[in-house]
Amino acid sequence: KVAKADAKHQKIHSEKRRKDSSDRKTGNEIFDKITLETLYKLANQGYIDVLNGAISTGKEANVLTGITDDEKFVAVKIYRIATSDFKKMDYYLKGDPRFNVKTKNKRKIIYSWVTKEFKNLTRLHTAGVTVPEPITSSNNVLLIEFIGDEDGNPAQPVKNQPPQDPDDFWNKLLVQLKLFVNEAKLVHGDLSNYNILNLNEEPVIIDVSQSVVLDNPISKELLERDINTLVREYTKLGVETSFDEVWEYVNPK
Ligand code: ADP
Ligand code: MN
Repeated sequence: KVAKADAKHQKIHSEKRRKDSSDRKTGNEIFDKITLETLYKLANQGYIDVLNGAISTGKEANVLTGITDDEKFVAVKIYRIATSDFKKMDYYLKGDPRFNVKTKNKRKIIYSWVTKEFKNLTRLHTAGVTVPEPITSSNNVLLIEFIGDEDGNPAQPVKNQPPQDPDDFWNKLLVQLKLFVNEAKLVHGDLSNYNILNLNEEPVIIDVSQSVVLDNPISKELLERDINTLVREYTKLGVETSFDEVWEYVNPK
């Protein structure tokens, strides 16, 4: 009821699309042909009914709020084929035994990248880490649980919304980090307060496309970097901690 009254909301079923100027503009700027086709497919399969405005416009991906047929919010992460960093994707994909990407086809690399994020989320969710629950992925589009309130306001990254009780939040985060490494056997690889959402003072870890399995030869280096980043950020927030303390606690086996 909140959603459908808003004129900015965009029906994505092709037959229902209105060809007003804002519609066309969105189409040109955000969605290329493949993205549109993928979104139509997801709409026809019943995953999304309405696409809302953007939560975030990043370097490589846009995140939008979607609304399902039964009026629930979902997060729609759309990788932009034109501006993706294929060198980075290739670097993180090639050490992963789950993927065998020998192609130079940029589109296929992105699709593997999205599949990797989906698989990582599945693995993390199964291990009990608080991440958005993955719903489905197709081509360059990833559908995941919306993290926010029931009116559709997204939870903010900790960077923008620091915890009220940093020590308490840090302890919760360490529990998540330990599960991440020891249960899911993954290393995040880009962990910082930009990729941790503050959901009512509970940490929710996001953005796991680059996360690697412990077997990946670069995992140790990435874990060291992640821990250093967190220690720096949370020390600034007033938490007393150190690299050794966190490394010891997380204790990757
Ligand atoms: P990027 O590669 O652009 O950094 P992220 O996965 O970090 O992509 O998402 C970018 C931003 O989108 C996040 O900082 C957060 O504000 C928002 N976001 C991402 N996933 C969700 C989600 N599941 N629910 C609510 N907001 C989200
Ligand atoms: Mn991010």
